[in-house]
Amino acid sequence: MINLLCELLELPDPVVSVGSTMWTKNRVAIDRLSRLGALTQSDAVRTIPCPACDEHHYVRVERTEAGTFRAYCPNEGFLPIDPADLTVLQVDFPCLIEALRLAINVLSRPLAQELVPGHLWFLGEQRIKAYRTRFYFGRRLTDLESIERAGAALAAKPATVPALLLTSSPASVLTDQLPKRHAPVFLADACRMTNAGFAVEEAALLAALRADDRVVIGTGGAGYIFSKGFRSGVVGDKNYTFTKKQAAVVEALYEAYASGLHGLHQSEAAAEADSNQRLVQIFRDNKEAYEELIGSDDQGYYWLKL
Ligand SMILES: [Zn+2]
Repeated sequence: MINLLCELLELPDPVVSVGSTMWTKNRVAIDRLSRLGALTQSDAVRTIPCPACDEHHYVRVERTEAGTFRAYCPNEGFLPIDPADLTVLQVDFPCLIEALRLAINVLSRPLAQELVPGHLWFLGEQRIKAYRTRFYFGRRLTDLESIERAGAALAAKPATVPALLLTSSPASVLTDQLPKRHAPVFLADACRMTNAGFAVEEAALLAALRADDRVVIGTGGAGYIFSKGFRSGVVGDKNYTFTKKQAAVVEALYEAYASGLHGLHQSEAAAEADSNQRLVQIFRDNKEAYEELIGSDDQGYYWLKL
């Protein structure tokens, strides 16, 4: 069902007309998408499969002066057209975007934004297990121009949190094309359709965020992984190692982050490492990690920049 939607979304003009092969093969899916409001009737039609030639070619429909419809077939001449055959359903993007936002539960957050007209939308931010994640939806991101436009729009937002791009385009094409910490997920892998709309497959989102080993390591995945004892970690495409004391600080900051705290006071973080040093001293031999991973304010609070 969601595969039909993905197929439609990849058409230049995401419409399906009554009597087409796509229509007859997918009646159940089309009915359900229509009930959801994701497919709505378009009144601007024009071309239908030729009713006389069993879809071997398309004919352009015109309105006669008498108010009836006809089309010209090179084989059969003018054919009368039943107005019922003129039904064309088109994807309703605002409705589709709202249905996706409902599925990832961000409806109460700021509105969606169309970043590249007809191609890329910002859906919202939501936490998936430990990962605060920014969600986007993209379609027809297969030619270089639209990939570049989408990449530029994504890169315009600072990548301080991992981002997932749900897309009807083949995700494999996009893997190496997106800014750092952005991962594509094929819509049909990330969501399924229910009677009420879409339901997200959390496992698929987590797999994309963790990027298994295949994306995080080396190519710059979206997510982050720390070893069990926090002596090593991968954030995006960066590998870090930590001394025992540093690991204790990172673990304390990570737990604060995971429990939703804004930050941890320096004295609390240092206490976890049995130290009364300042964090900058604890990390003095690991400046890169300190600068890239740890944020602080002038009140002495520290946090992980995940
Ligand atoms: Zn014909």
